[in-house]
This record gives sequence, structure tokens and C-alpha cells, in this order.
Amino acid sequence: MRLQDPLAALKGMGPKTTAVFAKHGIVTLEDLLYFFPRGWVDARTITPLRDFRPGQGALISGQIVTVREGMSQRTRIPYLRALIADVTGTVEALWFHPRFIREKVKVGASVQLYGTLQGWNPTNRALISPKFIDSPGMYALYSEIGGLTSARVRHFFLQVRSLMRDVEDYVPSNIALEESLLPLAQALEYMHFPPSPEAIQQAKQRLAFDELFFLMAPAILARRERERERAEVLTPTGSPVATWIHSLPFTLTDDQVAAIEAILHDLGQPTPMQRLVQGDVGSGKTAVGLAAVVEAAAVGKQVAWLAPTELLARQHFMTAQNFLPNTITIGLWTRTSHELWKGGGVEQATAASVGQADLVIGTHALLTEKVHFQSLALLIIDEQHRFGVKQRAQLRLFAGKPIHLLSMTATPIPRSLALVLYGELSLSTIRQKPLGRKPVTTRVVTEENRAKAYAFLDAHMSYKQQIYVVCPTIEPAKKEEANILNQLFETVEEKKAVTTWYESLKKHFPTRRIGMLHGKMKASEKEAIMNQFREGKLDMLVATTVIEVGVDVPNATVMVIEAAERFGLAQLHQLRGRVGRSDRQSFCFLFPSASEQQENARLRVMEETNDGFVLAEKDLELRGPGELTGITQSGVPALRYASLQDVALIERIRALSPAIMHSTPYEHMSERFWRMYHPE
Ligand code: ADP
Ligand code: MG
Repeated sequence: MRLQDPLAALKGMGPKTTAVFAKHGIVTLEDLLYFFPRGWVDARTITPLRDFRPGQGALISGQIVTVREGMSQRTRIPYLRALIADVTGTVEALWFHPRFIREKVKVGASVQLYGTLQGWNPTNRALISPKFIDSPGMYALYSEIGGLTSARVRHFFLQVRSLMRDVEDYVPSNIALEESLLPLAQALEYMHFPPSPEAIQQAKQRLAFDELFFLMAPAILARRERERERAEVLTPTGSPVATWIHSLPFTLTDDQVAAIEAILHDLGQPTPMQRLVQGDVGSGKTAVGLAAVVEAAAVGKQVAWLAPTELLARQHFMTAQNFLPNTITIGLWTRTSHELWKGGGVEQATAASVGQADLVIGTHALLTEKVHFQSLALLIIDEQHRFGVKQRAQLRLFAGKPIHLLSMTATPIPRSLALVLYGELSLSTIRQKPLGRKPVTTRVVTEENRAKAYAFLDAHMSYKQQIYVVCPTIEPAKKEEANILNQLFETVEEKKAVTTWYESLKKHFPTRRIGMLHGKMKASEKEAIMNQFREGKLDMLVATTVIEVGVDVPNATVMVIEAAERFGLAQLHQLRGRVGRSDRQSFCFLFPSASEQQENARLRVMEETNDGFVLAEKDLELRGPGELTGITQSGVPALRYASLQDVALIERIRALSPAIMHSTPYEHMSERFWRMYHPE
């Protein structure tokens, strides 16, 4: 037998069983080695019966004294009870369906059994279905996939055991030694046939390394490839960006300046920029992007700026008009709007005229339609986490030649995770808020206090402050779909849907101007509502999370979130970031649907901190990476042995990868990792 042989080479492996394994991505004998145990039993030393404690797994050795068979009266299941004795005491063992063990359990026979002593009182304890152990040792337990018992899976492993030492390691031995990593073959052996719990620990450490390595390697490879490419070198004479910065109505924060400096440095290099600007909502990323536009325009090169929604594209279009010098022409290109800002006025645009603009802001309509750029040198992707992995790859090739790439994200994620997810990118982080920003005062509000909160909202609207109300869903379930219970009790979905909530708020605040915004509305309707809100013609905007990303209305100072427990901390923080955008004090009210203690404790973290990075760490800790916005789409598989919080290991892998990547077995192993961890 060889590692490359199909599973069918094993004894006892029929077509049905191979099909079960194939479903888990396991085809060859080598693949099988990566079917890891779900646990181990430590049956290395024999416990004298006198020392056998309830609830604890142990190996015992003794002689059978009595055997009695019977049938459970309640369940009609046949059983066999045996009394076992050693020189220190006795214990009772119990097996159900004893057909297969009858041979072994005979009066006078010696047995070694592994099991747990169970029972409700001291006189009624027994070993329930203990396992027969031939020789003391550690034993792997396997998940019972497709009805295969752990014992049968173990039989397969006994057959492949001798092949394990042929497994080639993709980590060169000198590196493994330096990093105190077990050789791969050894780690596999330890997982399936461990000599001790310490050996399992070492094996898991080695496998953690592999998991992170295979996860990170594609991005690291991509980065190295990009480093060989050549893009336009943008080096204007003079310092147009410095002049522009002085023209701004505010002073940039140090972090903004540092990000701009890093970007200008990158743009001056022949290797294409691959930078991600990570900054909390309201940290002023737009200004950072605009600085890059100024730099490019100064040497007559064009910039494309991609936004995830029409709303945001329009908003950036307006911000750019306000902040950029009038000499810069700006296009807007979405599915429904084609406009050009030129010499201080807006005109309708065509693909041809927009293709001449210094800056073209658009949605992904820009990618699919026929705007041709004369001299595109830089692509800015706003809220890049909203674009999937595949889309991001497509964006890179958008210009048909290497160009500079600047991504921006308002999802602060822990550094460890950023390195894993965006390993191909250099990272600029904006942690500071613009000067004068007050932290948003946040309160979890229970139903008893709703009336008080509403009085507060009303007072704010009297002072011409604007309010967002966010609901988790758009429409209540259709009447015919809703079951009777729903109609009687009005579940959260029913009540806190935008459409119904909008109606009830209108009744509650009859004199206030209230608008509604959600994803199913036409783009033109959304735009009209958003404009009204921006211009202060609406007091309150009831919306779904469409307003989550990037919307900037400084006069809005109160954010109300209904059914707040439905959102992750990172997402709540994003929503909260819609307010607190001026020097006025802002507020965020979180209404949980029920007064369940546990959920509300999680929400209370929001009261304590306004730092998105802290909340992201907390989310990662409390709910795992899946809950962080953007990670669900990112294609990160569930890891079994590595932690995405292990910054030290992640950094080490980043440093080591160039030396490892080109070893022969790497590709082969990486392919298996993705096949087994991420079955499509
Ligand atoms: P985000 O990082 O969420 O994209 P924006 O770029 O939309 O944030 O900026 C939020 C608001 O802060 C905008 O109104 C912007 O004009 C303003 N702003 C940006 N930088 C500063 C600064 N350094 N000082 C004061 N206000 C700023
Ligand atoms: Mg933004």
C-alpha cells in the first residue's frame, strides 16, 4: 500500500464507506490521515477498583465473578450484567444488546475494560458499556460519520499506521527544529496513536501551525506576485497634497496624516500599492482617499472610486465636490445615475465623457459597463469588506494592467485577524477620532423605559436634531404565511419590521416628519429620502441596516436600534457610528426584544466603550470570528487547532512563509486543506 492509493485498498472498506469518507473530502489513504480523532481516552495505567471514582474514565483489570442476562422491562432492551473483581474490590459492568460480547464475558475470564463509573447512588453504580482494551495505552476516538463506529475507523488506522512515516513534510526540517514544531509524520502518528497527553498537545501545536499557514499562504503568495508587477509611479512636482490639506476646513488627525503619508509613499513606487486603511466609522477615511486623488490628478492620472451602494456613491460625489479643488473633474457612474461635475456645475454624462474625468465615483456598475479610462492609475475601494473575495480579485484586473489599489474599511478588526484575512495588503490604522468628537452616550433601554426614551427623542426633534431608528427586518411576514401564534402574539419580526414600525412611530409622533428607508425601495426613492434627511427635511428616519455603511449626516445625533440583540457588537458599533459626527453630544439607545439577562449583558459592553477595535476583540472572544462583519463572506473555514487570536503565531508564519512556500509538498497539502476544511 502507498499513500496515494484509494481508500478501497483497505480491508473492510466497501463502496458505501468510501462514499461516506468522500463526502468529507477524503479520497486517498493520505487524506485519511487528516481525519482527526474527536478525543482520546487515557487507558495507560490500571486503576485498582478500590480507587475507582464515579464520573471518571479509567482502565480497570479484573476477573468476572458472576454474569446475569436480562431484559429491561420498560424498554425491552436485552442486557448483560457482570460482577468484576480485583484484589482491592468489585464493580458491576452493564452492556446492552450483549450479542457480540457474550464470548468475552464468561465467569472466570480476565478482562481489561475502559469506562466510566455511573449511577445515581453508591449502591447502584455500574460501568455502562465499557470498552475492551487489549493492551494499556492511549486510544483515539473518532466521530461516528455515516454510521461508522469509532472502533471501525480505528481499524482502518491500524492498517495505515506504517505508512505514516512516508508522509513528506512541507516545512523544511531546519525550520521545524527552530520553531520547535514536530515533523508532520510524527504529528500525525501522535494524533492517531498518542503515547501520552503531552504528545497530543505537541501534535495539536504542529497542526495549528499548518492550519494558519494554509489559510494565510494564498494571500502571501498573491502579495509576492503583485510585488513583481509594475504600476505608474506618481511623483508630482511640488507638494499638491500639502497645499490641499491646508485648504481643508479642519485639521487632520495624526493617524490621518500617517495614512496619507504611507499612501503617497506607495504611489511613488513602481510596485502597485496594496494598502488597506482601517478606521472606525467617522474617523475620516474619505479625506485620506481624497488626498490620493489630489496626488494622482496632479500628474494627470485618473482615479476610480468604488462604493458598495448608490447612496454612498452619491454621498462621496457630493463630498468630493466640496473638498476637492475646482480644477478636478468628478464623474458619478451608477446603474441609475450618470453625472459629471465640471467647473463648478453638474451635467449629465455619457460613458465617454465620464471616462475623461479625473475622478470617477461609482458602484460596481462601473466594473460591468463600458466606461473607458484614458489613464487610470489608482482604484479606491470604499468599505471593501462589502465586496466578496472573488469580486476583490476581479477588481484588481479591472484596469487590464497593474494599478495602485487603496482599500478602506470601517470594520475595525483585531490585528491578528486583519493579517490573516488581508495578508496581501499593507495596513494603515486610524484609531483617533477627529478632535472635538464626544463619545456617543449609549444606553440599553428596556420596555419599561420606552416612554421616557420617547420623550427624550421628542425633545431632541424639537431642537432640530435628527434621529435614526434601525429595525432588523423590512416587512412583517405575509399574513397567509404567518401562523396563528404569530398573529396572536406579534413576534419580533411582525412588530419590529421597518414598515410596521414606521407606521406606529408616525402615530406616536404625529407632528414629526418621519421617513422610511430600506433595501427593497427603488434607488431613486432611496436617494430622495436620503436627500430629504440630509437637508434636514425629515426629523426621523426609520431604516434597516442599509444606513449602516458610510452615511454621513452630522446633524443626526440620536440612534435608536430595535431588537438590538440580533446584531453583533461590531455591527451595532457600525450603526452607532452614524451619529456622533459633529461636536454635539450624541446618543444611542439599544432596545432589546426581551429582558433576558444574558443577552443584555453582551449589549452592555456597548455602554462601556466607543472603541471599535475593543468591541471587535470582544466579538471575536465572545462569539468567534463568524460574527465579525465581513468575515462570513471572507471564506475563512472553521479552524480546529489554531486560534485566530494568536498574534504571535500569525506573525511568525508571515515571516517564515517565503522560506516554506516553495517546497514541493506544499501545493499538494494546501489543496487538501481547502478540500477538507472547506467542502463546497
Ligand atoms: P469614515 O471614516 O466613516 O468614512 P468620513 O470620512 O465620512 O468618515 O468622515 C466623517 C466626518 O468627519 C465627515 O463629515 C468629515 O468631513 C469629517 N472629518 C474628517 N476628518 C476630520 C478631521 N480631521 N477633523 C474634523 N472633521 C473631520
Ligand atoms: Mg466612509
